[in-house]
Amino acid sequence: MPRPPFEKLVIATHNKGKQSEISALLAPFGVTVISAGDLGLAEPDETEDTFAGNARIKAHFAAKATGLPALSDDSGIMVDALNGAPGVYTADWAETENGRDFAMAMAKVWNKVADQGAGAPKTAAFHCTLCLAYPGGRDQIFEGRAEGTLVWPPRGENGFGFDPMFQPAGNARTFGEMTPAEKHPLTHRARAFEKFVAACFG
Ligand code: IMP
Repeated sequence: MPRPPFEKLVIATHNKGKQSEISALLAPFGVTVISAGDLGLAEPDETEDTFAGNARIKAHFAAKATGLPALSDDSGIMVDALNGAPGVYTADWAETENGRDFAMAMAKVWNKVADQGAGAPKTAAFHCTLCLAYPGGRDQIFEGRAEGTLVWPPRGENGFGFDPMFQPAGNARTFGEMTPAEKHPLTHRARAFEKFVAACFG
């Protein structure tokens, strides 16, 4: 395997679910991984209205703060019956006064889809944009999607976020019912990651 273009990489996230998936994806490449959350870095405001815009904010913030290359993930679920919502605002739909509540956010999505009178199957896709930023200011963007359908009620205790209501295409189980090893290869994140790997380790 060719030498990676860096020995240390900051994962620019405070989301434990994303952190563990990205760490698992990076494990074979001999790169030392540290997360923005573990380093106690601040979380920059995500003020853009695109996945790439917000991924750039997070990666550049972490690269500048640490002097190391940083990889961020901006992702979300896009529901066809809602014209792609919640999309870039997926995490916002889970916000409450007491932190994020994904059971509530999943119910909100399901109720809005029901309000549209959408028939079955209720199709949706997870989207992931990864941004690799260098301290000097250069960056690269990699994108991936996972297609599937929404189910109700949610099923499974594994994963994070909207996993229990998302059944990837060609599968009878939701992401929430899969082990990490079963979920990882099917994800939007893994598909974006393949492009990152080809660019950095190919
Ligand atoms: P952001 O990228 O920090 O804006 O947040 C994206 C949100 O999308 C997360 O908080 C999750 O709710 C959701 N999300 C992204 N990827 C996944 C996934 O693999 N499974 C379940 N939910 C996800």
